[in-house]
Amino acid sequence: MTGMHRAMSERRVTRRGFLLALSAGATTTILAACGGGATPTFAPTTAPAVAPTAATTTAAITASTRAAASATAPATSTAMSTATRVASVVVGASPVASATRAASAVAATPMRQINVAATTTHIQDFLKNVGGNRLAVSGILKPNVDPHDYETSVQDAQTISRAEIIFVHGVGLDAFMDKAIANANSKAPIIMVTRGITPLGGDDQEPDGDPHMWFDPTLAQKMVTNIGEALAQLDPSSATFYWQNVQTYNAQIAQIDAQVQGIYNQIPSADRKLVTNHDAFQYLANHFGLNIVGAVIPSISDAAEPTAQEINDLIDTIREQKVKAIFAESSANPRVAQQVAQETGIKIVDNLYGDTLGEPGSDGDTYLKMMVADATTIVAALK
Ligand SMILES: [Zn+2]
Repeated sequence: MTGMHRAMSERRVTRRGFLLALSAGATTTILAACGGGATPTFAPTTAPAVAPTAATTTAAITASTRAAASATAPATSTAMSTATRVASVVVGASPVASATRAASAVAATPMRQINVAATTTHIQDFLKNVGGNRLAVSGILKPNVDPHDYETSVQDAQTISRAEIIFVHGVGLDAFMDKAIANANSKAPIIMVTRGITPLGGDDQEPDGDPHMWFDPTLAQKMVTNIGEALAQLDPSSATFYWQNVQTYNAQIAQIDAQVQGIYNQIPSADRKLVTNHDAFQYLANHFGLNIVGAVIPSISDAAEPTAQEINDLIDTIREQKVKAIFAESSANPRVAQQVAQETGIKIVDNLYGDTLGEPGSDGDTYLKMMVADATTIVAALK
């Protein structure tokens, strides 16, 4: 059996294990295997102890397909975790020995790339860092495109149909995917990257909660870990590769976190006040010690329009609190922000990266760069 054949048959067997776990109604959450800072315990290239018959496998596939189609991503992921845990217990090999075997198999085998669809530009960036050349990542949202009022295209439908796994943000940010996935009749697992994160409270526009959690680097790390776990389940022969990349990239996020905190600390504490053009920055403010005193669009979703009264209230707040600038995102319409800035005589800073990364080549074309670019922009306007 060639290396490629072995990898592929193991993948099928392991997916069977995952399907069995799902059909058995497994509910144990095993996040320890990929939890922050934990040593990886799952061994790659392993098979479950039970070899199902063709009939039970077919039944399980049907059940899992229905589950995936109804977008029960957390349940799916939980079942996948359970399958991995079972596999590593059965084999009982040392992770180091397995990792060595996996690495040599990888070197000898030309890899077929896994087709992956991902909604936000942040998730696309995380996937590239965790999956490297193992993945062919197709993005639904492009740089500088606002997710809140996005409508999927014919090309998106093709991307979704082709995908072997689909990563969504969840918490209402990319709810447009529910219909798109149903229309594409996709059978691929759907992974909600923010699963396990309790969102800040939402509002009428965002009833599921505030989705902008990537602005807290510790929550971004959790998203990265969720991505690594899902990829390891789908492609167990590369589990060690994904896991090592999760560790490396999350360490880079921790470094950026410290660096960015140092940048924000340059603002005198009395001046750490933000007025933004929509409530995208609450996680950032909470994590780095800033205070959001107002938003031009008083909603977490920028699909809302402010009333005249809301604009007048904001102008009063800016004057009372001596706010120095209004911060607008590059992807959102700054018209109202410009109006308020003119009225109050303060400057408008309209190049923050919020719901999307920047175009390739810009100073916000990766998550790590975006966090530094926003901090630098905000500090330059406030200190
Ligand atoms: Zn937003």
